[in-house]
Amino acid sequence: GKVLLTGGTGFIASHVLDCLLDHGFDVVVTARSREKGERVVKSVHESLDRQVSFVVVEDIAKDGAFDEAVKSDPPFDYVVHTASPYQPHWNDPVKDCLDPAIKGTIGILKSTQAYAPTVKRVVITSSSAAMLSPPNHPKVYDESCWADVTWEQALDPQHTYRASKKLAEKAAWTFVRTTHRPTFTLTIINNTYTFGPIPRSLASLSTLNTSNQRIRDLVHGRWRGSEGGIPPTAPVFTFVDVRDVALAHVRALTSPEAGGRRFYVVSGFFSNPRIAGIVRKRFPELHERLPSEAEAEKDDFPEDHWGFDNRQSREVLGLEYKGLEESVVDTVESILKFEAAH
Ligand code: NDP
Repeated sequence: GKVLLTGGTGFIASHVLDCLLDHGFDVVVTARSREKGERVVKSVHESLDRQVSFVVVEDIAKDGAFDEAVKSDPPFDYVVHTASPYQPHWNDPVKDCLDPAIKGTIGILKSTQAYAPTVKRVVITSSSAAMLSPPNHPKVYDESCWADVTWEQALDPQHTYRASKKLAEKAAWTFVRTTHRPTFTLTIINNTYTFGPIPRSLASLSTLNTSNQRIRDLVHGRWRGSEGGIPPTAPVFTFVDVRDVALAHVRALTSPEAGGRRFYVVSGFFSNPRIAGIVRKRFPELHERLPSEAEAEKDDFPEDHWGFDNRQSREVLGLEYKGLEESVVDTVESILKFEAAH
């Protein structure tokens, strides 16, 4: 099979790409420039590089942005749409986040329907952010949950990201169920806060994806007492390893049962002190850069934390989740390896 993977330069996409290649798919990734596309292709082991190519899509928010990218010879069987902005801060919520998230999602669906009739399934990376409603948490979150955030709140940078994920996902369901009714089926992956090995194609640790930044900062000594200590963990206390997220996307492409469904992809709980404790235990050589044992023992995990139900992802997608220690250790190792090589 052949897959179009959007946002090929991203953290999650880099693992989706590895997983697709492992499963024998041919892949075309989209990147915002030639230089970025070439970096992604070069990051792939040479025994696999004939299975990968790239196409430039500069601005996913533009009308018809994907019209050319979805045309291919031989034609695509599947599309995985991961491209969407995820930053800690926004200058212009609409231009920097909401437009590319929402218009990009509608755009990939429109272009696929118009120009790629062989595509059987589209898988889109949404987020647990599209499900969670702080501070009015239910006892247990599952696939029936939708964030209570509105368009008005979306314009407040504090809510922009989670609104972008909810509104983009809603728009995708409306597209397939009501307004356009395409021949392909849709599956949505609602993964939570994601840790894991950094992309081999990364140019610099200063452009590391948002969810891995806290582990980078810890490794760089920014959680030591003299630097202000361990930052508060809030608002997210659930994590998943990126390799499980990648497998979820790949299984979602071909599982007949996965069509028309969303999947909450979440492994377990974490907190910053717990991460610090793991890194202290497993990387004694980094001790000078790390918070003290006493600080790592002051856990800020809330007593009344909400629960999650990830049964559907385990039963339908067959996920067996990696734990926090493995995920954190492998992330730290990838950062140290990157630093040694640059
Ligand atoms: P990255 O920032 O590493 O990846 C984002 C990707 O989207 C990059 O390829 C980026 O391109 C591309 N992109 C962003 N904005 C635009 C734009 N305006 N036009 C074109 N391309 C754009 O983050 P992640 O890998 O973490 O995120 C990937 C997806 O996963 C997103 O949809 C995100 O919302 C979702 N997600 C992430 C979670 C996490 O904890 N990391 C949790 C749940 C969902 P470029 O490299 O050129 O900037």
